[in-house]
Amino acid sequence: MDILEAIEIYNKNRGIKLCFKALLSDMDGVLYNSMPFHAKAWAETMQAEGINCSPLEFYAHEGRTGRGTINIYFSREKGREATEDEVQRIYAEKARRFVECGEAKPMSGAQNALQLIKGHGITTVLVTGSGQKSLLEKLSLDYPGIFTPETMVTAFDVTKGKPHPEPYLMGLKKADVAPHEAIVLENAPLGVESAVAAGVFTIAVNTGPLDEKVLYDAGANIVYPNLTSFSNEIKKLF
Ligand code: CA
Repeated sequence: MDILEAIEIYNKNRGIKLCFKALLSDMDGVLYNSMPFHAKAWAETMQAEGINCSPLEFYAHEGRTGRGTINIYFSREKGREATEDEVQRIYAEKARRFVECGEAKPMSGAQNALQLIKGHGITTVLVTGSGQKSLLEKLSLDYPGIFTPETMVTAFDVTKGKPHPEPYLMGLKKADVAPHEAIVLENAPLGVESAVAAGVFTIAVNTGPLDEKVLYDAGANIVYPNLTSFSNEIKKLF
């Protein structure tokens, strides 16, 4: 199946015609090869709290807010939610360990893909559950002219993180488009769920260790192995 066939299926199921005016893009695992660092930082931080976990399992929580992730582990291991102080302290510690991992590199092929899309007059909006300031501040250097503070939805904007549709609904609002006028670019199952719940055609790039079936099961309209194949396919829309 190629992107045009996937769009035809979306159009048929929705009874509406997709008109590509805006790209809503996730950040970690899409724009940056940062997930291995996040997974390591999360696992080390949680282990220091006496919580038994491995880096790999954090790929399943990718897209949640820091609070959401912390509370899943607190509920499971301590039988209660974290206090506000604990959330602040643990998330700060996780952010510190993330920085210690080194500099996350832009995902190969992502800069070209975004320049191509922007060059065709498509509005680009960032939709991330991240509150990692070290990465958010790097965006304007690595992706010049693609995102502005007005076209970013981050952990600081949402109350309900992915998989809730709120982040992508907010992204649609910032792009000033309807769901059928946008395309979402995601890499994580919970992110895909959020985008699909917002009614947006969702492309997943499988840049992590999960099976692509997990992304299709989450509702992705089409899955590519990396940003370069995404870039080649998206050209068909112009
Ligand atoms: Ca992601």
